[in-house]
Amino acid sequence: MERVYNFSAGPSMLPVEVLEQAQKEMLCYGTSGMSVMEMSHRSKDFENIIYTAEDDIKELMNIPDNYKVLFLQGGGNMQFAMVPLNLMNKNKKIDLVNTGQWTKKAMAEAKKYGEVNVVASSDDKTFTYIPKLDPATFSKDADYFYICLNNTIYGTRYTKLPETGAIPLVADASSNILSEKIDVSKFGLIFAGAQKNLGPAGVTVVIVRDDLIGNAREYTPTMLDYATHVKERSLYNTPPTYSIYTMGLVFKWLKKMGGVEVMQKVNEEKAALLYNFLDNSALFKGTVVPEDRSLMNVPFVLPTDELNEKFIAEAKAKGFVNLKGHRTVGGMRASIYNAMPVEGVKKLVEIMEKFELENK
Ligand SMILES: *Cc1c(COP(=O)(O)O)cnc(C)c1O
Repeated sequence: MERVYNFSAGPSMLPVEVLEQAQKEMLCYGTSGMSVMEMSHRSKDFENIIYTAEDDIKELMNIPDNYKVLFLQGGGNMQFAMVPLNLMNKNKKIDLVNTGQWTKKAMAEAKKYGEVNVVASSDDKTFTYIPKLDPATFSKDADYFYICLNNTIYGTRYTKLPETGAIPLVADASSNILSEKIDVSKFGLIFAGAQKNLGPAGVTVVIVRDDLIGNAREYTPTMLDYATHVKERSLYNTPPTYSIYTMGLVFKWLKKMGGVEVMQKVNEEKAALLYNFLDNSALFKGTVVPEDRSLMNVPFVLPTDELNEKFIAEAKAKGFVNLKGHRTVGGMRASIYNAMPVEGVKKLVEIMEKFELENK
């Protein structure tokens, strides 16, 4: 069986080079005589793996010295609780922009610990755009301001950050981290589950500014306190060792590719291929307003459910899989993360062109 073009929103495809490297080292990592899976997380070999991964992401994202990088478990969903537990600690109030499923879930968790002021929402149009923000409507006394940078389900992304002044900006970057340049210094905290753009499921990256660490709510479980993990450099307890190792291979791959700026150019090229086709197609339509379109997740529809299903089935038979849209949006969604080659998108556009000719 040949490898398919996998457009899954997550877990998603990994670079072939990374999988091959992992395969080569599967039985014996370096001179250890064992697999990384079998290794003590307290061993020199594993310390080297985790600290190198930390250094590499700091370099790739140009993370300033007054931030810590943590490798945690529990996914993006655990951060929905961890962020308020650690940061909602002064006025017990936050501002949030509701741009879809993931900010709704973050909101529901934050409400357990205080007040959530929804500054703006794109709920009125099924989250097909990023709301325009007016800083005059922001709370002066919010503990932080929360956004989701790229909305995996609806295919929208921020191209301009809210200007929150001294209020820390907190962002869920699960589906766009390392896909485009992010100025970390503009944020108090950024988190991202690995399974979209960083590596296999099981590890979550948290980038947090020093002054936001160490003031968790009094009842915060030890494991959910950032300070616990900062103190032990992500080795407080057994971390997801194999996921961290594989993510480290992805960082090395990205560095070899030329880093985030080069990757962003490639991602812009891939997204443009699809959006240009959608804009000129008489049959396929993009669902997001042009100015807020995601580089990573591209939702689109055909005129009827029958045609959507027909296209998904035909694409699948040709080796283009996981194109079915999220159950709340319908239609199709092509997730084109860093690991998706330009060629995969070109070929997808080709089958869309062919489908259009055959179904006019
Ligand atoms: C996938 C995703 C999540 C949820 O991640 P889990 O690791 O499954 O908890 C949160 N936010 C965004 C933007 C996502 O794409």
